[in-house]
Amino acid sequence: MRLGIDLGGTAIKSGMVDETGQVHFAETTSTNTASGREAVLDALTEACKSQLKHEDVPSIGIGIPGFVDVENGILVRSANLPLDDTPIAEILSKRLGKAVYLENDANCALAGEIFAGCGREASDFLMVTVGTGVGGGICLNKKIYRGVDGRAGEFGHMTVVMHGRPCPCTRIGCWEQYASVTALCRMTKEAADEFPDSLLAQNIRETGVVNGRTAFEAAKNGCATAGTVLEHYSENLAVGLNSLITIFRPERIVLAGAIFKEGLPFLQRIQKYCLEPQYLMLSTLNGQAGLIGAALLGATR
Ligand SMILES: [Zn+2]
Repeated sequence: MRLGIDLGGTAIKSGMVDETGQVHFAETTSTNTASGREAVLDALTEACKSQLKHEDVPSIGIGIPGFVDVENGILVRSANLPLDDTPIAEILSKRLGKAVYLENDANCALAGEIFAGCGREASDFLMVTVGTGVGGGICLNKKIYRGVDGRAGEFGHMTVVMHGRPCPCTRIGCWEQYASVTALCRMTKEAADEFPDSLLAQNIRETGVVNGRTAFEAAKNGCATAGTVLEHYSENLAVGLNSLITIFRPERIVLAGAIFKEGLPFLQRIQKYCLEPQYLMLSTLNGQAGLIGAALLGATR
């Protein structure tokens, strides 16, 4: 077994991964991002120690959102963690007495899918991850395609609307401005403002919360306004997916991210707007693709 860590801005997912890709002793702890650099490094150390009590392993792999210097084990830059220019591999290796490997989280998730998920039935496929933003990865002939500078597969930043919404990446009309969970929340709020008598608006007034589940919950209770939000959002997702299918003609596009816990009914909504719906599938790895791919890092270097 090997130890895999999926370090996110809010949570650290950890677990032991066996040679078949099964995850054992899965645990989720807080990243403590708000408490700063040392607190995050301590939380990371504790997550590893907690797992190492189960089994002594040769190496630890960590997937991190951001630009990672893979060779030297340094997190160069991250939008979500207070760890810019931190030699995480060296620090943790000293604390734990193990070899530690770092990699970008999207590449880890794709490696996890190649090893234990979609890759079991396809050698050429794409992964699209929908969350705060829209990320992705390209698997060609069972290998990660990285492009000339390692940044291939940033699907969320392809332009889908000319003169559309501005994106933090500095471009205009990027897909993630319409297809991320952040976009769904914005659409949900706008619809509630426009239809204040809808169940959707009532639910938001009562709970004071809008998140990626808000529209789904109201729609399940028969709210037509929420249903319309989900139709538009599903169509937004399909617009980008249709382009990806046209460009790559992949065997599969595997969809990942917590929003797909909505399952088959949501997939079918998206498929209605897809030219070739049979290409789409939901990840079968229960949000653990990143952790599984991270655990593999030591085995492949
Ligand atoms: Zn962008």
